[in-house]
Amino acid sequence: MIKVAKFGGSSLADEIQFQKVKQIVESEAERKFVVVSACGKANEEEHKVTDLLYLCAAHLHYGVSAESLFVPIEEKYRRIKERLGLKIDLDREFEEIRSHFDKEIDTDYLVSRGEYLTAKLLAEYLDAQFVDAKDFIRFIHNDEVDLEKSREKFFKLIDTDKKIVIPGFYGTLPNGNIKVMSRGGSDITGAIIANLVDADVYENWTDVSGIYVADPRIIRNSLSCKRLTYRELRGMSYMGANVLHDDAIFPVREKNIPINIRNTNKPNHPGTMIMNDCSELDAKDPPRIITGITGKQGYTVITVVKNHSSTLVGFLRELLSIFEEYRVSIESVPITVDTFSIIVSSKAVSNNLYEILNRIKQTFQPDDMRVDENVALVAVVGRRMQSLPGISGSLLSEFGRNAINIKVINQSADELSIVVGVENSDFEKAINCIYERFVLAQEETL
Ligand code: ASP
Repeated sequence: MIKVAKFGGSSLADEIQFQKVKQIVESEAERKFVVVSACGKANEEEHKVTDLLYLCAAHLHYGVSAESLFVPIEEKYRRIKERLGLKIDLDREFEEIRSHFDKEIDTDYLVSRGEYLTAKLLAEYLDAQFVDAKDFIRFIHNDEVDLEKSREKFFKLIDTDKKIVIPGFYGTLPNGNIKVMSRGGSDITGAIIANLVDADVYENWTDVSGIYVADPRIIRNSLSCKRLTYRELRGMSYMGANVLHDDAIFPVREKNIPINIRNTNKPNHPGTMIMNDCSELDAKDPPRIITGITGKQGYTVITVVKNHSSTLVGFLRELLSIFEEYRVSIESVPITVDTFSIIVSSKAVSNNLYEILNRIKQTFQPDDMRVDENVALVAVVGRRMQSLPGISGSLLSEFGRNAINIKVINQSADELSIVVGVENSDFEKAINCIYERFVLAQEETL
């Protein structure tokens, strides 16, 4: 059994968190590969190391001193080193980084130093081998990682029975320059390592006990999910739940490796298991009907009514091509007879809504056209909803009982999720009533 354990920034924010990580890693021999984020903030006054490094780079590019930003970073790493009694030569490390301080500094290089230094400290603390991501994670173009080449290089670097510590978030371009991934990218590195070593499980250690059914800022003490499928996770994270970087799913999904979200501060909690297919486990231990309730505010619905258009071939394509011209991505398009509702994020049309409306008017001369701004979408996701008669009806009647006006309804044919559009002002109320009726009530009857 091989486990890859990735620890996020809050799990490595100070020496106390390092101690927790050591206990977790050493408690199981299977936890052979450890991937780290840069140190996070230990308290509200601090800033994340990565945020500070981005600011340092911006200062240096403008020829402004970065001292006031870089010194706190140095102090943080020195403090952790001293308190854990480590020997790493931080003077030399910082001297090397500072030797790049000028207007031409490579932002990706500088920003990657957060993960690099965190991994260096942890490797010594765990008496593990440090393997630098720059020496084996190879990008093909800008974003895509060449897994084959990375695997080949990785196995040449491992020369020990010790545990391996790898900095997340970066790799190298074909020209040898360091390239960082998008924010939160250490999750992707963890998934890549899990793929490279054919792990049995990819553990993602963070500061919450798994994926919550609903955003805990809306539902205090929300229950968490025991297990969910990759597709459910994708549905939930697309609509606002963000525990794991979206792109972290692909490298593990390809090899059917489960992801286990765990809490560094509550290591005995089993967290959430995310896998391709939960049916075997579900048969023994049926899941809740609803896995997650997520959603976002700030959508605009443009409704176009054109008599007899439903039978016109190509009408919808032409209508949508106007949005494409303005590079506006479309959230969904519920259609009824001769009526097309195009849902887009309000931000995406904030500069050109009226131009788009004008173009629609001129091109199609609609019989009616309406714009609803201030719409929120609530997504109810659950694999058990599939082929369960009556669930959409009960959901919608719950909205009715709570006097929540439904503006649009969208359910895909796979019945994995139902998305309902409501007024922005009803957003939290909608999540609350679904949570109470379908999650809490079900829990109580079990
Ligand atoms: N340190 C990087 C960030 O803050 C990457 C990561 O933590 O995953 O975005």
